[in-house]
Amino acid sequence: MDAHEKLRLLADEARYDISCACGRKENRDDHRRRGPGGLWLYPASVPRGGTSVLLKTLLSSVCTNDCRYCHLRAGQDVRRCTLDPSEVARLFMNYYEQGKVFGLFLSSGVLRSPDYTMDRLLGAAHILRRRYAYRGYLHLKIIPGASDAAIEAALALASAVSLNVEAPTPSSFRLLSSTKRYEEDIVRPIRLISRLTASGGPYARVKQTTQFVVGAAEETDAQIVEAAFRLYRRWRLNRVYFSAYQRGAGDASLPGQRGGTRPEDLPAREHRLYQADWLIRKYGFEADEIPFEADGNLSLAADPKEMWARRHPGRFPINLNKADRWELLRVPGFGPVTVRRILDLRRGGGRVRRIEDLGRPGRRLREATAYVTF
Ligand code: SF4
Repeated sequence: MDAHEKLRLLADEARYDISCACGRKENRDDHRRRGPGGLWLYPASVPRGGTSVLLKTLLSSVCTNDCRYCHLRAGQDVRRCTLDPSEVARLFMNYYEQGKVFGLFLSSGVLRSPDYTMDRLLGAAHILRRRYAYRGYLHLKIIPGASDAAIEAALALASAVSLNVEAPTPSSFRLLSSTKRYEEDIVRPIRLISRLTASGGPYARVKQTTQFVVGAAEETDAQIVEAAFRLYRRWRLNRVYFSAYQRGAGDASLPGQRGGTRPEDLPAREHRLYQADWLIRKYGFEADEIPFEADGNLSLAADPKEMWARRHPGRFPINLNKADRWELLRVPGFGPVTVRRILDLRRGGGRVRRIEDLGRPGRRLREATAYVTF
């Protein structure tokens, strides 16, 4: 198999890992597009603003781990291959110099050991940074169980790193893998990265992200949201991503394979988690304000903000000419932009007399009228 063919296979295998700033509508697969040579390219926010496309690939699809949700786990009959660090660097630079991609997301299955794999990833990163003097975006995957030295070496070369947490609790994590240890291989390195990338720390420019797999173990949305909240507030992660479990890829022993969320509902569950995440990151909701159903999951029937409003009827209607920012942000249909518009209008001595004062009333603004007075 030549290097181009390997890259096509490995880039295709990388599609389930969404723990990077790629994809606009919350990283749904349908937003990626085919690039040159049939490669998948991923829309991503560019640090300078706007969007461009990212080449996302594995260095190897060989793996010694047994993650039961992943079709690349050891023992599966899959066509596997490995690129040399120099090959991946050369292929990427080829696309980069033609202006076809703006950055690289580089992950890998686990070859031999976590640190052996980290050496290969770091080798590719070194070649890019030193031989090609590449200064652009480079997202490196941290392999679970990597040593502190390998993690620090990755931080010295990368623009962003991610280590996927996958599950919100040690017990749900144990259902997913017997070869990875939750505390030692996942939680401890995330804490180390968080310390090293803290503002004032040696690698403060490097972003850290992670991903949960949704619906594979017996985890509830409440557990995922609580864990994500901790990752944001205590460990200052830049983003937490959610990836709906792909049943076709999984092992029959997984709870998500036998029951739990119906396969057709998994994308909706993932979407609701992104909405809850948005409420926490952009609207200042606390984790215990997110409304869950009796089974610990988010309602699939309505978005979490709408559910919050239904459960707090005493807080509505809200007077748009008196309410503060916290109250306005809780109105279903209002986002931060609309709330800023209301507050700017009031600050300038104006009043909101009808919903049209806030812009052309689309579905979202019309929805808000049920919760407000003027
Ligand atoms: S480490 Fe786990 S998720 Fe990653 S490729 Fe190997 S089996 Fe798949």
